[in-house]
Amino acid sequence: MSTVSVNAWMDEACAAVVADADRLTELDSAIGDGDHGNNLKRGFRAVVEALATGGDDLVPGRRLILAGKTLVSKVGGASGPLWGTALRRAGRSMGDAEALEGPALADALDAALAGIVELGAAQVGDKTMVDALTPATQALRAAVEAGQPLADAIAAATEAAEEGARSTIPLQARKGRASYLGERSIGHEDPGAASTVLIISALGRALED
Ligand code: ADP
Ligand code: MG
Repeated sequence: MSTVSVNAWMDEACAAVVADADRLTELDSAIGDGDHGNNLKRGFRAVVEALATGGDDLVPGRRLILAGKTLVSKVGGASGPLWGTALRRAGRSMGDAEALEGPALADALDAALAGIVELGAAQVGDKTMVDALTPATQALRAAVEAGQPLADAIAAATEAAEEGARSTIPLQARKGRASYLGERSIGHEDPGAASTVLIISALGRALED
């Protein structure tokens, strides 16, 4: 049975964010303040470092909690507390479970999304990361419940996240910094939705047998 390695997930998310930092910053320059790439780069680098130095003896849930705390403490922008809370909630949802396998991952992503919504109060259609993470969690759960292999479930979640991120382009932002632009936020992809695609797709490269 495949499982997701938390350390590998965070390594892969970090690598993806570093590789695409300029694109994320460009998206955030169009409708925000141009710091999204740097925020996530700094945050995920700190997460990788924290897991390397203090994560060895921890169960997967505790590793996710450590990752979340690190993001909250290292990232000044909105995305730090939001993804930080998400990972902490994901970790809490796992309790002392030994492995992040299909149903545990579906529960963890649901908990992550619930944490983001509780903190940021955004709904689908507000042009935020929620527009990518909501369809991703739904697609993952549906695939897991249909008995699909975890790799396929993650691929479905990644596709749903991509579609969700694209769906933010014609929307007017109703939450976060981009909402200050009003109608001028229309026609641009939301940076947080774009980085959510990277974080979800990283799951697929963090699978172990
Ligand atoms: P900041 O907006 O503080 O500069 P970032 O640039 O790192 O922080 O992150 C911006 C992203 O955060 C947005 O593109 C959006 O996806 C997300 N975001 C902002 N506010 C909210 C919110 N209230 N709920 C959910 N996501 C939000
Ligand atoms: Mg910003």
